[in-house]
Amino acid sequence: MEVIIVGAGIGGLTLALSLVEKGITPTIYESVREVKPLGVGINVLPHATAILTDLGLQEDLRATGIETKELCYFNKFGQEIWREPRGLAAGYPVPQFSIHRGQFQHLLLKTAKERLPTENIKFGLSYINHEITSSGRVACWFEERATGRVIGPVETDVLIAADGIHSAVRAKFYPNEGPPRWSGAVLWRAAVESAQFLSGRSMIMAGHADQKIVIYPISKKAYDQGKSYTNWIAELTLGKPGDPAPTQENWNKAGKKADFLPQFKDWIYDWLDYPKLAESTEQIFEFPMVDRDPVEAWSFGPTTLLGDAAHPMYPIGSNGASQAIIDARTLTNRLTEYGADISGALKAYESERLPATAAIVAANRRQGPDEIMQIVHERAPNGFDNLDDIISREEREQIAAKYKVLAGFDHATVSKVAKAVN
Ligand SMILES: Cc1cc2nc3c(=O)[nH]c(=O)nc-3n(C[C@H](O)[C@H](O)[C@H](O)COP(=O)(O)OP(=O)(O)OC[C@H]3O[C@@H](n4cnc5c(N)ncnc54)[C@H](O)[C@@H]3O)c2cc1C
Repeated sequence: MEVIIVGAGIGGLTLALSLVEKGITPTIYESVREVKPLGVGINVLPHATAILTDLGLQEDLRATGIETKELCYFNKFGQEIWREPRGLAAGYPVPQFSIHRGQFQHLLLKTAKERLPTENIKFGLSYINHEITSSGRVACWFEERATGRVIGPVETDVLIAADGIHSAVRAKFYPNEGPPRWSGAVLWRAAVESAQFLSGRSMIMAGHADQKIVIYPISKKAYDQGKSYTNWIAELTLGKPGDPAPTQENWNKAGKKADFLPQFKDWIYDWLDYPKLAESTEQIFEFPMVDRDPVEAWSFGPTTLLGDAAHPMYPIGSNGASQAIIDARTLTNRLTEYGADISGALKAYESERLPATAAIVAANRRQGPDEIMQIVHERAPNGFDNLDDIISREEREQIAAKYKVLAGFDHATVSKVAKAVN
């Protein structure tokens, strides 16, 4: 079976590794001429780690990223609302990793280069169009970035679009969809070397729905040296859902401290001084919090969507990369099971993954697990003396458990995935 994957991001590369493991050697077309280690922190939740473990990557992940030990929520005054163990510390069979996105992508790419023939990973070629041929195959056209020359038609049995939030393949299926939908919030994202905080492997969130920080370490190397390479995100609501975004959806757009830091000047806790951390940071990126409404179909004959191309979601609950990895494994399984019935395989993949990810998109619009911070903020805007008077332990537990089941990383589901892949 011939497979073309558009995009060598986290989803496309994981799919390539997964297919190769099952004896299908795909060809990847990536539009950038050279993959640079772009982005800042990203999380790989246990269900995704189980899949990457099966692909033989756990040791490399362990050597690069941080095995997240706990997730803690605070109000804007730094008072603790919720703390839960994560990964192995929570009794999962595999860790949760917090890792630099660029390093993670490089690790996947290095592995793909080891496992695929060199000519099957093509750079500097942007997908521009495809047509279904009279024999039911896919004819694709690409633009050579360096020259503007059009290459094609290149024929294949299957075309899988893993080309991210601005997917050109999705735009062909849904030409009137327009730009991603803005939530009203803007994120300033960065990573900087700092002192360790809390356990040294803690992920923290503080604030509420309209003003928030998310902070976690992402480097094993820094951790081993007694330091932290700390990923931080500052989030401010500046508009309403559906308003035109004030800033481009460009992962590499530079952000300015003056645009957000004054509003966080008092966010100094005895366990973390956020303004100092942000002040010490040189390079900051600005990205609007965007997603897209779920569409009714991803699969059209021998073509389908995967990862952010299929289901861009708010980066709430740390799910973007993990869901792309689950897509990759599910699609591989269906393609190998269905054999020659490619359209059937792609529809089966869609019927499993589209409703599951649409539910996460919807839950993230309601703040996902971060809802706990908003509830406490509304009930105790000036802080609290006794948290149990504000929100019961039972209510806190319910919020945390509900999201894990929805996103598929509750204990029962992860154990099932880990067993199935081992
Ligand atoms: C440069 C960059 C930085 C990012 N930084 C962060 C971050 O700091 N934090 C975070 O949470 N998420 C970040 N993300 C998004 C995150 O990687 C995804 O949400 C998630 O990992 C799902 O991955 P994906 O493979 O579906 O999409 P992506 O990781 O976005 O990968 C899509 C790939 O497709 C390629 N591509 C796009 N159009 C075409 C085309 N027409 N033809 C061929 N190839 C094409 C892109 O160059 C890219 O390599 C970033 C994405 C990118 C591209």
